[in-house]
Amino acid sequence: MKLADLLARAGNACEFCGAAEALDAVDMAPAGPVLLCAACRGESDVPADHWRCLEGAAWSAEPAVQLAVWRKLGTIEAPWATEAREAMALLPEVEGWAHAPLAVEHRDCNGALLAQGDTVVLIKDLVVKGAGFTAKRGTAVRGISLVHDNAGQIEGRVEGQRIVILTEFVKKR
Ligand SMILES: [Zn+2]
Repeated sequence: MKLADLLARAGNACEFCGAAEALDAVDMAPAGPVLLCAACRGESDVPADHWRCLEGAAWSAEPAVQLAVWRKLGTIEAPWATEAREAMALLPEVEGWAHAPLAVEHRDCNGALLAQGDTVVLIKDLVVKGAGFTAKRGTAVRGISLVHDNAGQIEGRVEGQRIVILTEFVKKR
C-alpha cells in the first residue's frame, strides 16, 4: 500500500491517537500497514495515559488497526488495557492473526532448523547463571522447547534444571 493511500484511509491522522504530525507507516504483518505518529511508534517516551487512546482505536473497522491495537494492548500491564483487549470485537481474519504463533525460526549454530522436541548438543561450556553449575560442551539436551517470541533462544533441561540456551551454542543431533 502506498503511503498516500494509507494517509487517505487514516484521514491524515495517527490511527491510534489521532495526532496529525510525524506520521509514518508501520508494517503490521500479515495485516498490512497502519499509520502511526512518532509517539505511537514508540520513538519517544509518552505518559502512560497516552495509551488510553487505544480504547477508542479498538473500535476501528480496519483489520490492520485492530491487530495493531490488540498487540499493543497486550504489552500494557494495566487493568483498563486488559479490559479493553477483551472487549474488542475482532474481525474473523484478525482473530486468526491475533492468536497465531509468531513466525520465528529457530536455527542452530550451523543454520539447521530446530523444532519443538529436538535433541541438541552444546558446542561450548555454558555457565548457567544463578544455578551454580557449568553445562559442559557435548552435553545432550533432549526435548527442547522453542522460546515463542525469541528466535535466538530455546529451553531445555540440563542437570535437572530447566534453562534458557542460546541457539548459537547448540548443534542439532
Ligand atoms: Zn499516535
